[in-house]
Order: sequence, then C-alpha cells, then structure tokens
Amino acid sequence: MAATVFQVTLLGSGTSTGVPMLGCNCAVCRSSDPRDRRTRCSALISFDGRQIVIDTSTDFRQQALREAVGQVDAVLYTHAHADHVHGIDDLRAYNMVSKAAIPIYGPPAAMAGIRRNFSYIFSGEVKPGFRPLLVPWDLAGDFVLCGLPIQPIPLQHGAEQACGYRIGGFAYITDCNGIPDESMARLRDLDLLVIDGLRFRSHPTHFSIPEAIEVAGRLAARRTVLTHLSHEVEHRRDQASLPQGVELAHDGQKFLLAAPEIAFS
Ligand SMILES: [Zn+2]
Ligand SMILES: [Zn+2]
Ligand SMILES: [Zn+2]
Repeated sequence: MAATVFQVTLLGSGTSTGVPMLGCNCAVCRSSDPRDRRTRCSALISFDGRQIVIDTSTDFRQQALREAVGQVDAVLYTHAHADHVHGIDDLRAYNMVSKAAIPIYGPPAAMAGIRRNFSYIFSGEVKPGFRPLLVPWDLAGDFVLCGLPIQPIPLQHGAEQACGYRIGGFAYITDCNGIPDESMARLRDLDLLVIDGLRFRSHPTHFSIPEAIEVAGRLAARRTVLTHLSHEVEHRRDQASLPQGVELAHDGQKFLLAAPEIAFS
C-alpha cells in the first residue's frame, strides 16, 4: 500500500551567509540557542522510501550527515544562486553508492545557470576523477516525481525569477520578494507554507518578515514557517512577536503532511 504521509525536513533555514556569519560578532551570531545556528536554506522530502532534496545548499554535506540522508533520488532546484546550489558536487557520493545517476530539475533559467557554473559536471568529457552523475531536466509544468505530484510555482526574486514548489498541502516558497497573481492562485488551501522571511527590515530581493506575514495572511495558510533567516533574527525573542499560526524555521525542523492523490487526466 502506498504511504499516506510524506515528511518535510528543513535541512537549512539560513540566508546566504549562514548564521553565524563569518566575521560577525553580533548577539545572534554569538547566541547559544541552537535555533540561531542556521545553515543555508534547503529542504528534504521523504516519501515511501524515496528522498527528494530541494536545493543542494553550500552546507549540503553537513546537513545530509546531520539528518542521516542515506540516498537522494532526485533534486529540485529553486534557482541558481550560490547558496542554493554549491553543495552539488557532494551528490557524487550518492552516485558512488547507488551506481545510478540522479535526475535534477529546475526552471530553464536555473538549469542554464547550473550547467554554466558547473560545466565540469555536464561537459560529457571523460577525465580522471569522479564527477557527479546528474541528469538535468528543464521543468515545463507540473509533473510526478517519486510518487508525488510536484507543482512548480514561479516567483519574483528581485530582477530575477525563482521557483517555489507545491506538493499537496505543502508549499516551499523561498527566495522571493513577489508572487505573481497566477502563482498566488496556485497557493490556496495550504496546510503548511514555508516562505522567505529574511529579516524585519525590507530587502530588494527577499520578503521581509512583515511582508511574508502579509502574504501568508492573504493565502490563509493554516501554518506558516519563515525561512532564509538572517542574523538579524533572534529565535527566542522574535518568535514571541509573530502572529498566531506563524513561526520561525530552525534547522532540522520536521513536518508530516498528508500525501496527495495523483490525479491522472
Ligand atoms: Zn538564497
Ligand atoms: Zn551577526
Ligand atoms: Zn537567491
């Protein structure tokens, strides 16, 4: 019988620098609260013995060790920024163990950036040394992956685009400062919204926490978790200031969600 739930693990909840930030001596970077230690933003979806990673962050190897991730069946990329991709080379360990290639998916712009920035992986040249065996796919719309229906959700990320993902009642919407109307329409009736909420002050490419709360309110998500947090956010202090149903993410946070039916049309 197919599994009835899937699990989401927030592998990392931090902004591009990570928290603590190198060279910074602020109170949050010196905090002893483990929730203030944030690796770069990414997530793991576990369903029916399969594992999908959303973004291979700069901290991917440490995250995978921490969460004992024994296999990766596929990767979904949100966009090609360094903090979301630069752990890509560590996927090769899973290739070595499984002796199989890993499919990786993202919107065409993201995949073009990844192919360009990591040309040694995709050049097809035969050279000594083990490079990751990855099969890149440009996403053109909804699809089924590891038994789950995946809905790519276009997002505005400053002058660029990022891609969120919806799986049943769960949506992962990081790295954005705007959501087009068509994407908003695809984010109704969510049990769990994980959304970019960088810091309280505004930013040119990320939602601030007040902006993320406003969007979550418009979507009426039943539970909202703010991620991609900077060192301006102190977990204990700032969690207390959030409205009902909204909370700050922390590394390793896990959620169980009802597995959606796959509708074949
Ligand atoms: Zn980012
Ligand atoms: Zn700091
Ligand atoms: Zn970004």
